[in-house]
Amino acid sequence: MKNPERIISKLVESALRRYSMIAEGDRILVAVSGGKDSTTLAYDLAMKRSWWPDRFEVRAVHIASDFCSCCKKTRLTSLLEEWGIPYESVFVPIIGRLKPGRSMNCYWCSTQRRTELLRYAEANGFNKIALGHHLDDIIETFFMNMMDKAELSTMLPVLKYDLYPVSIIRPLALCEERQIEEFADYKGFRSAACTCPYGASSKRRSVRSRLAAMTGGSSSAKRNIYESMSNISSGYLPVENPLPDSRVRTNRQ
Ligand code: SF4
Repeated sequence: MKNPERIISKLVESALRRYSMIAEGDRILVAVSGGKDSTTLAYDLAMKRSWWPDRFEVRAVHIASDFCSCCKKTRLTSLLEEWGIPYESVFVPIIGRLKPGRSMNCYWCSTQRRTELLRYAEANGFNKIALGHHLDDIIETFFMNMMDKAELSTMLPVLKYDLYPVSIIRPLALCEERQIEEFADYKGFRSAACTCPYGASSKRRSVRSRLAAMTGGSSSAKRNIYESMSNISSGYLPVENPLPDSRVRTNRQ
């Protein structure tokens, strides 16, 4: 079996280079939850600091909420300390901010968390926020947006904001969840996993199982879905105004 650490490291390196995620002098804030994804991300960036051609700084923040007390923060704190990543926890009353009559859901939660992350990054001089979303998250979002919003869109590997002087980067964009799980088991991070009480009913879970049925869990099928998002033949899509450079390619008989 190939070394899971090497697999993750190579895939993160590919994503960092392909999407030009890191530049000289970057101050990167990693959003950590105690789960396998963000813990893997924090570890990999911490290791890359010593050899990556551009010098960059890594710090971590945990957005603590009023509903999820399951995060193994003691374990997380000691891991981050071991890797030389300064860490802070910020409390956000996510349920407490709900308007009367509204119920808790993932959209509200992630919007609140994202806003706090952006505020924290801006107030503390970070120019990039690294999130632990992986390839499976990205293709799940792609299908969710198609089915729920009739829109072809997803989470971007790099997202720049007009309103904030901060970009979002997703260095795990080319890593499959399965590979992160193997790595987390290999390093013993799984015990740091966090289970959200609202996660079980999330729409994402339903899309995840439908996608698993559609791809049969095939890595190449999932990677092809991912690559299709940047290989668009708009001439073969029912768009009213195809992109100017779109071509319909036909073979001469
Ligand atoms: S699964 Fe839980 S922590 Fe994650 S976005 Fe949904 S409510 Fe928030």
